[in-house]
Amino acid sequence: MSDGVYDSIVEAIGNTPLVRLNRIVDGSAATVYVKLEYLNPGGSVKDRAARAMILAAEDAGELRPGGTVVEATSGNTGIGLAAIAAARGYRTIVVVPDKSSREKIALLRAHGVEVHVTPGGRPAGHPEHLRSVALRLAAEIPGAWFAGQYDNPANPEAHRRTTGPELWAQTGGRITHFVAGVGTGGTITGTGEYLKEISGGAVRVIGADPATSVYGGGDGRAWYVESVGHYLHPETETDEWPDSYHPEIVDRIERISDVESLTVLGRLAREEGLLLGGSSGTAVAAALRIARTLGPEDVVVVLAPDSGRSYLSKYFDDDWLGRFGFPLYGPANEPTIGALFDEVAGSTLRTIASGATVAAARELLEVAPVLPVLLQRSASGPAVVVEILGVVTAASLAGAPDDAVVTEYADAPLPVVGSTEPVRRAAERIADRPGPVLVAYEGRAVAVLDGARIIAAATNSK
Ligand code: PMP
Repeated sequence: MSDGVYDSIVEAIGNTPLVRLNRIVDGSAATVYVKLEYLNPGGSVKDRAARAMILAAEDAGELRPGGTVVEATSGNTGIGLAAIAAARGYRTIVVVPDKSSREKIALLRAHGVEVHVTPGGRPAGHPEHLRSVALRLAAEIPGAWFAGQYDNPANPEAHRRTTGPELWAQTGGRITHFVAGVGTGGTITGTGEYLKEISGGAVRVIGADPATSVYGGGDGRAWYVESVGHYLHPETETDEWPDSYHPEIVDRIERISDVESLTVLGRLAREEGLLLGGSSGTAVAAALRIARTLGPEDVVVVLAPDSGRSYLSKYFDDDWLGRFGFPLYGPANEPTIGALFDEVAGSTLRTIASGATVAAARELLEVAPVLPVLLQRSASGPAVVVEILGVVTAASLAGAPDDAVVTEYADAPLPVVGSTEPVRRAAERIADRPGPVLVAYEGRAVAVLDGARIIAAATNSK
């Protein structure tokens, strides 16, 4: 058979192109290539791990004809598994967190997957945690097999066997730096181990990690780019890292904020013609940082896991970006919350940890009229909007005993508007909930504003 003709999609996975970055490298002397994993049949790098896990399970007799594939995933592994399972006659059930993009959940359903959406923000081991739900389903369904990408050795092995050798061959052995994000760790571990071995240890392996992720030394607070990093719920008792990740293979980790990932993502689309997913923005941001320190002989390869098509309703959507106070993709062309209200800049918002006492909250309330109650171990540090559990005021604490836990007396969370959001749009969204609103800047709560003032400002600017 000639090149490019396959018996099934199983053989059509891998051998994705490397494309050189030309316009966003900002004068770096090093060459930077992006490996375009969205060109796999299932649309992401996870096709590689999905294929390897299914084939290994068949070999081990764990997955038999008529069986059911079950997985916990942010989406892409499920899509890869579903495509391969369909071609081989298996059913697929996938458990996804509610933070996964609408597009990924729709893609899973389009592949005929039975999708279970679980609420985010549950500690590991909680019955509603992604993995617990998937394990329960796999135990209940006859003939079910749990893929378990976080601990399945076939995941990193897929990259040792395919991604690593492809990169070595495609660069003619000239690759000096490999950059990738870390989710399960399969990509960076398998590819990194292969490249180090074949190069006699010369290739440097760089992890690209969300700034607050635990992998890179962050405190585990939430972030907005999905599918990479390691989140730490404040109630997690023992933090376990996936077996698929071998941190010793990583020479350094670049910590990338959400806003840096999103900025690079926009530049990739507009200046390089590459419409990529959020974790590609994180990885390319790290590669650009590294490339700035290198010379003309250096060849940096950064792995881009999936396409921006899966995130049109998030990272490329001004409504989503504005709501959290991220820079808009298109120009606002009208007054924004941040431009109109001086309080948004430089404001310090008082917060309290979810486990604090009512007495501690009362003390804070003496200096602040409205107090968001946060789901975080420490009351210090920025409050991530998506983690805010509720608010407490002097009124909500009336009659509460001093030694009670403050969370039990909290009112519902406040509506959130973004600092970059057009005032008119913010006013529309809060119209049915007058009263105080939280203002988000780059995903963090920075101020409380009177909603009536936002609505009045929108009316006056008409
Ligand atoms: N980016 C995206 C979009 C992904 O789907 C994944 C896998 N969850 C990753 C990055 C991380 O890859 P890995 O699990 O191999 O570390």
